Amino acid sequence: MMKPRIQAAEQDPKVRSHNFEEVCLGYKPEEAMEEASRCLHCKNPHCVGACPVGIDIPGFIAAVKDGRFDEAASVIARDSSLPAICGRVCPQETQCEGSCVLGIKGESVAIGKLERFVADYCEQKQCETKAKGKKVAIVGSGPAGLACGGDLAKMGYDVTIFEALHKAGGVLRYGIPEFRLPKDSVLERELGKIRSLGVKIETDVVIGRTLTIDQLFENEGFSAVFIGTGAGLPRFMGIPGENLNGVCSANEFLTRNNLMQAFREDYDTPVRTGGRCIVVGGGNVAMDAARTALRLGAETSIVYRRTEAELPARKEEVHHASQEGIEFRMLTNPVEILGDDKGNVTAVKCIRMELGEPDQSGRRSPVPVPGSEFEIPADTVIMALGTSPNPLITSTTDGLEANRKGCIVASEDGATSRPGVFAGGDAVSGAATVILAMGAGRRAAQAIDNYLKTI
Ligand SMILES: Cc1cc2nc3c(=O)[nH]c(=O)nc-3n(C[C@H](O)[C@H](O)[C@H](O)COP(=O)(O)OP(=O)(O)OC[C@H]3O[C@@H](n4cnc5c(N)ncnc54)[C@H](O)[C@@H]3O)c2cc1C
Repeated sequence: MMKPRIQAAEQDPKVRSHNFEEVCLGYKPEEAMEEASRCLHCKNPHCVGACPVGIDIPGFIAAVKDGRFDEAASVIARDSSLPAICGRVCPQETQCEGSCVLGIKGESVAIGKLERFVADYCEQKQCETKAKGKKVAIVGSGPAGLACGGDLAKMGYDVTIFEALHKAGGVLRYGIPEFRLPKDSVLERELGKIRSLGVKIETDVVIGRTLTIDQLFENEGFSAVFIGTGAGLPRFMGIPGENLNGVCSANEFLTRNNLMQAFREDYDTPVRTGGRCIVVGGGNVAMDAARTALRLGAETSIVYRRTEAELPARKEEVHHASQEGIEFRMLTNPVEILGDDKGNVTAVKCIRMELGEPDQSGRRSPVPVPGSEFEIPADTVIMALGTSPNPLITSTTDGLEANRKGCIVASEDGATSRPGVFAGGDAVSGAATVILAMGAGRRAAQAIDNYLKTI
């Protein structure tokens, strides 16, 4: 008989909906060993092919099973520089775990939770580095930039990461909340490992303003540049009332909380708390914004124009959100935001939707039901409708090609239209995932090494 998956302990939903501490508490060593013993060690392990950075999953799981945790950490470190983060936020259910043979008839091995356990339990061994001297600039300290910079430093390059914000980490810092990714115990630890490889991180430097890409080459002595600036430009619906007080993008709302620590009483950054909050959207960002608003004391609903089956957010996040008391209003789309004579939000006027024919993405497209408008009272409205890359760098760098969505055009290994300039992560793909950004950063590091050997 197939053994059931070992469930990791979680904070009680009633307790956690009032705090920002991490929801999932992870495995204890004996639980990790027990879970690892479920792996069938397939001859042709599909999980490895389904991991965007190709971690030797059966290899590290075999080591966990026998309690050789340091060895498991070394196996993971060959392919991933941010395992404590990926173990927490990767969409494993559609990647490694989605390809696990055990998942066909039962529950797949909890690969993400095992990766997280190993990273939390062990201090990763760093590789010896051999100085090559050449300077490489990385723009942006998100997963793409960190992975690229970490690999280049291991190869011996002199790497500096330039970050526009006052703290490093990209979305891992300003987007994903504490209760999914603790900053001090997890993100800072991973950043510490990257720094210990010799990578310098300069914050408060906006490339395209403080310094241009050309100045990095001409005045600062860099031989190559990697752009990993993400996709931080929020979209709005373009409906009446979006400029009322109390309407903001999920990026702004989450940045105020995660980067500026607005949820802490000893910080001065203001953020709206309490009242009734509507979050528009159905992705991970919408779930994070809604669960943050709930923790700040708001009665929170998610408004989404399709049904639960089409929600793009990870299933685990949807499950956690509904456990915590978030209301889901499906097949509903805002048409106007209503306010009072002082310009404050009072309600969202919505229309009911039904599903019509499949669109280009293969999902059935939502169609408004005529005459079905209704109002939902609200004090805050948070738009979580997706983001695109900020055009600052492409507009200040001659010859750097971008497509019509504002994404930098780059080859599979990150080469752009400008020699010596490489790019990857959300800045190239549009909003995607941590592991894809990391994979792009690592491929670009290899390509930069090849390029620097030729000049
Ligand atoms: C709220 C939220 C939740 C998410 N949840 C998940 C999840 O659960 N799982 C998952 O896999 N993915 C998730 N994602 C997506 C994932 O975080 C991103 O795909 C990933 O972070 C992209 O990495 P990146 O390095 O390309 O860019 P980013 O992480 O966006 O980092 C880019 C960095 O570049 C900096 N920068 C931008 N312009 C400049 C400039 N001109 N000069 C200097 N620095 C600059 C930015 O300040 C930022 O720090 C989430 C995204 C959000 C917004």
